[in-house]
Amino acid sequence: MNQSGQEAVQLLHIHSGRNEVRLAWTVGLFLLAVSAAVLPFGSIMLPEVKPFLPAFIAWFILGDILTAYMLFSRYRASRSLPMLILSCTYLYTGLITIPHILVFPGVFSPTGLLGAGDQSAVWLWTFWHGGFPVGILAYLLSQRLYTRPVESRKVLLYGLIAVAGTVLLVFAVYLLATRGNDLLPRIIQKGNFRILITSGVGPVVWALNLIALAGTLWKHRGRSILHLWLTIASLAFLLDVTVTLYSGARYSLGWYAARINSLVAATAVICALIYEVNRLYVRLVKQHDLLQASQTELKQANDQLLRLSSLDGLTEIPNRRRFDGVLALEMDACARSGKPLSLLMLDVDHFKAYNDHYGHQGGDRVLKLIAKRLERAIDGTKGTAARYGGEEFGIILPGYSMKEAMIIGENIRGMVEKERIPHEASASGSYVTISIGAYSIYPSMDTQREEIISLADRALYSAKAGGRNRVSYNGSAQA
Ligand code: GH3
Ligand code: MG
Ligand code: MG
Repeated sequence: MNQSGQEAVQLLHIHSGRNEVRLAWTVGLFLLAVSAAVLPFGSIMLPEVKPFLPAFIAWFILGDILTAYMLFSRYRASRSLPMLILSCTYLYTGLITIPHILVFPGVFSPTGLLGAGDQSAVWLWTFWHGGFPVGILAYLLSQRLYTRPVESRKVLLYGLIAVAGTVLLVFAVYLLATRGNDLLPRIIQKGNFRILITSGVGPVVWALNLIALAGTLWKHRGRSILHLWLTIASLAFLLDVTVTLYSGARYSLGWYAARINSLVAATAVICALIYEVNRLYVRLVKQHDLLQASQTELKQANDQLLRLSSLDGLTEIPNRRRFDGVLALEMDACARSGKPLSLLMLDVDHFKAYNDHYGHQGGDRVLKLIAKRLERAIDGTKGTAARYGGEEFGIILPGYSMKEAMIIGENIRGMVEKERIPHEASASGSYVTISIGAYSIYPSMDTQREEIISLADRALYSAKAGGRNRVSYNGSAQA
């Protein structure tokens, strides 16, 4: 079976816990005790309570058909053919009880409806109680044979064929039991069905039920809730047949008592299924909560990742990627609003010499410090400071004119100078200084990013050429 099919089947077989096994044992022992207590008095005749049987049968029909429906849903979910066979087994028992009650003498008419013969009802009972264990055995056998899930597109088709086949089978059995009344071996005489035993038919039905019970126990040992209660249903069927055969006649004590077993047989699995559905529902809600929690976690991790991917590892200010993104966005916004945009490009003076003299780590510390000062300087503006690369930084100032940008640039330059970071190897002073190139523009929709950067770079070059530790602007600036 492929992975998903296996998982679906596993999901549908909820493991039976200790309490559930205990409850099943209690019910099983109760049934055994009641049946054993009734056996010696089984043939005692009791008053004929006519509404008794139809009331019970109505219950069986509802219980069995509902069970069949729920098992069918399981078949659709798991695409497991054995599940379809089990569903049809219950459909069969649910449907066959309908002609059984209709042909039963003395319920709807003295001799039974639908062309009933004198032994139609008992033959239908035989097919009902023989059909169930056969269905169970087919289910167990199919679990060996069909381990692969049905192809998705064939699920409904197979389901339809199986259901139609079951309905036809029940119809055929009904015809056999009514039209074939006189052809079938005699198993009842004037309401007394002792010959059901002597004819051999009863023992065969009994043996089938015993084998089905043994098979269910042996194969599944009640490990899942469904199989636990399927075992109880099989036991109830066996006891039903035992007590019925032993009672020998309708409306005897045994005959009445056997119906209790029928009741359990028709109810056990539906209760187990409803219980399982509720458990699945609780599980679903829990899974849903877990899923939501993990989604939140995932979102947080994603945000973190996004933040990290846009920050520079050393200085923890926006990196080049973020610089490019912000510049593109701000250019676009300024082009729309008709506002100017200024760009400052910064470069540390004689930084190679600094590294050579103080070491690379010393250089890193300077870069971090400058980054901090940049962030402080643009705090309160709409600007973005980023590490452009190496010891170069860029500051995007949307809405700022050249004049305003020059003031900010000058402020930054002064801040770094005031730090008085010793730089003995500098050719232009004794402290670390920076040079800044500024450029301003009224961007249009076709202004290129590279164009602005290179014009600011050119101003930076003239700041270097002019003696460093200064802010220069590009003469071609527009704003
Ligand atoms: P100038 O005044 O003309 O800018 O001279 P400069 O020495 O600063 O110019 P240059 O571009 O030749 O040197 C840049 C140096 O910056 C080279 C490299 O060792 C250093 N650098 C680049 N990235 C880092 C970094 O992440 N950490 C450190 N410590 N140094 C870096
Ligand atoms: Mg440089
Ligand atoms: Mg430099």
